[in-house]
This record gives sequence, structure tokens and C-alpha cells, in this order.
Amino acid sequence: MSLIVQKFGGTSVGSIERIEQVADKVAGFRQNGHDVVVVVSAMSGETNRLIALAHEIQERPVPREMDVLVSTGEQVTTALLAMALNKRGVKAKSYNGSQVRILTDDAHTKARIKEIDDQRLHADLNEGYTIVVAGFQGVDEKGNITTLGRGGSDTTAVALAAALKAEECQIYTDVDGVYTTDPRVVDGARRLSRITFEEMLEMASMGSKVLQIRAVEFAGKYNVPVRVLHSFQDGPGTLISMEENSEMETPTIAGIAFNRDEAKLTIAGVPDMPGIAHHILGPIGDANIEVDVIVQNVSHDNTTDFTFTVGRNDLPRAQEVLEKVAKEINAREVESDSKIAKVSVVGVGMRSHAGVASQMFKALAEVGINIQMITTSEIKISVIIEEKFLELAVRSLHSSFELDKEPVNENAA
Ligand code: ADP
Ligand code: ASP
Ligand code: MG
Repeated sequence: MSLIVQKFGGTSVGSIERIEQVADKVAGFRQNGHDVVVVVSAMSGETNRLIALAHEIQERPVPREMDVLVSTGEQVTTALLAMALNKRGVKAKSYNGSQVRILTDDAHTKARIKEIDDQRLHADLNEGYTIVVAGFQGVDEKGNITTLGRGGSDTTAVALAAALKAEECQIYTDVDGVYTTDPRVVDGARRLSRITFEEMLEMASMGSKVLQIRAVEFAGKYNVPVRVLHSFQDGPGTLISMEENSEMETPTIAGIAFNRDEAKLTIAGVPDMPGIAHHILGPIGDANIEVDVIVQNVSHDNTTDFTFTVGRNDLPRAQEVLEKVAKEINAREVESDSKIAKVSVVGVGMRSHAGVASQMFKALAEVGINIQMITTSEIKISVIIEEKFLELAVRSLHSSFELDKEPVNENAA
């Protein structure tokens, strides 16, 4: 009998009716002879509701208490699903993160899983139980409840699949797989039958929130095959795995990711001399602010402009830090812009195909979109553009790279 880990996201457990449907699905897998460990998210909207409650009390509550609060959402759905399974004659037990002992570090609200104790789960599986585990949460060495960051139930599922050496980790959600780009933005987006860990990691890192980044990292590291599927529609979904698709020529581009979560800061008129980048970004790093894209212009009159992006939430703090730096180094001014977006084309095929960047820039030029910043890695090219052009950019790139067309020779699944 094979062991499968199945994760159901917020909309899939968003009502009692849906939880009953999920129970039918899990019961079906049991009937077919599989052992099943289910990971559930909180009901859709619940985590946001809990965060809003906290903010009614305090703008920045202590992270430890935030974790105690937001972890409750997943505890509700585990119990309800276990009841629905029991009702169907499927022996089921629910566990929260600390009961399993999903041990994490103590970085509240963004903890990382260090170890999973699989003894209790194996004992239950041997006794014929189906296990329902609360996603998104763990416990630190001292017994404090921790959470894994938004979307963290994906990571719980993949980590459990790795720890239990499951045959597959199935991520059930409200789309029937990973698409060439967010299907809510581009009508012509197409489901991919498979994608490599490496490509999925870039897609997730560049803003495709269909899977949490950490989940993809885990899957790659432990070689856990992950399949993204629709909770309530049958279909093959998308398989995320190590191998590139050998039966067809690898397409140059697998997909297009985008995100609106960044803001841009420019410090203008800074002296062009050794150590200046460190002088600017050092204090930003010390303030625990992550920097993404960086551009330094060529100098005129021995001064230069230095531009970088940070998470939009960090903009006020970053600006404060930068104003101080500007005074210290005699820079002319600090400017900021939060109405930007980042669009990235991703694909392992880029390694062997030249001209992807120029095709990308041409497609954007043809619709009159100005590129503000560019950054590349081996398998991706990202540009920063004005936010109002985001959808137009994604659509233009999608058709320029012919992502709406079915690749030749692709087998149906
Ligand atoms: P869940 O609550 O099940 O975890 P999420 O909302 O986290 O679901 O993830 C599913 C959503 O991800 C989809 O509804 C879709 O809008 C979005 N999404 C973004 N990029 C993609 C993509 N490339 N392929 C599929 N879905 C995507
Ligand atoms: N409930 C958490 C969230 O909304 C975790 C998850 O759903 O994956 O972010
Ligand atoms: Mg999610």
C-alpha cells in the first residue's frame, strides 16, 4: 500500500459542505488501498480575519502571540475533517503541529521546519488511521507555537511527505494545476503537464503564489514529487519533479510570474567611489530589510544614482534609513515609488536558447512599456515596470513566447 500526503487549501475547506466533499475524496483514496496523511489550511479568509482582529488591538503585536492566534484556524479544520471522515467509517485522528512535533526554529511568523517526529504518525498509520495534520504550524524547542509564513500549509505537506517517504505529495487547490501564468490574469494561460523543481522555485520566488517557496525548496531538496490538482475536478494536474520533460524539446519559457509587492527607492547624486554600495545597503540590511533588484548607473561628474527595490511593506522603514544615509554621504535626494511591478519569464530552456532577453524587451516595447530595471539569473529574466502596465505586459509576453499554444509532441498527461 502506498502512502500519499494530500493537502487541501483554504477554499477547499472553506465550508462544511466542502469539508464533506474533501472527506469523500480522502475516503475514496482509502478505499483504493492507500494510506493517507491529510494536511489542511484554515477555512478561506480565516487567517486574514484573525490577523485583522489582532490589528484592532495593536499595530505590531508580539510575533509570539500572533502565532498563537493565527494557528487556531488550522486546528478548526483538522477536527472538522476528522469528524467528517469518522462519519464515513474512515478511522481518523487530527493533530496540531506541536502534537506531531513539527519542530521549527523560533522565528515567529516565518519559522523554518527543522525536524519532524514521524513515530506517532507511523504508529497510527499502522493501526489503520487516516491522519489529519494542521498545516502552517509547528513548535519550537521551548514549546512555543510557531507558524511558517503565509501559504505555509504547502510546506507542512511537502515536509511531511519527505519525512514519511510518501510516494507523492498532492496539493489540492482551486485551480487544476500550475499554469503558464496566473489563470486569473490571463485568459489564455495553459496548464503545464509538468514543470521542474528549479522552474517552479523561480516561478514561486518571482510571485506565483500557487505554492509557497519553501515548499518547493523542500520538494527539490528531498526529491518529493509534488502534484498540483483541483480539489473538486478530476484531472492529471501538474507534476513538479526533478526531470525535464524528455519526450519533447524543452520549451524555452515555462511560464511568466509577476508580483506587485515591491517598491523602488533611489538615492540620487551619491559620490561614485569604493564602498558606496556597502554604505547604502549596509544600514538597510541591518534594519532587516531585504533588497531585491539593484541598479547603479554610470557616473557623471563623479556622482551616480543608486536604485533598489524592497518589499512594499518595508518601504516606510527603508526610506527612513535611506534619508539618514543620504545626509551622511552628501547625496542629493531620496525618491521612492511604490507603484511598480516585477514581471519575470522563467524557463530552463533559456540555458540553451539565445535571444530570450531581446524577445522579451521587444514584446514590451511593442506595447509601449518602459523598462525601469532589469535583473537576470540563469533561468529567468525579470523587469521592473510601472504597475498600471502589469497585466498588459504579462499578456503581451504570454503571446510573444507562444505560451498559449500547446507544445508539440506533448503527451496528454
Ligand atoms: P490555496 O488556498 O489552495 O493554498 P492559493 O490561493 O494559495 O490556494 O493558490 C492558488 C492560486 O494561485 C490560484 O487561484 C491562482 O490564482 C494563483 N496562481 C498564481 N500563479 C499561478 C500559476 N502560474 N498557476 C496556477 N495558479 C496560479
Ligand atoms: N492559513 C494560512 C494562510 O492563509 C496558511 C495556508 O493556508 O497555507 O496563509
Ligand atoms: Mg496557498
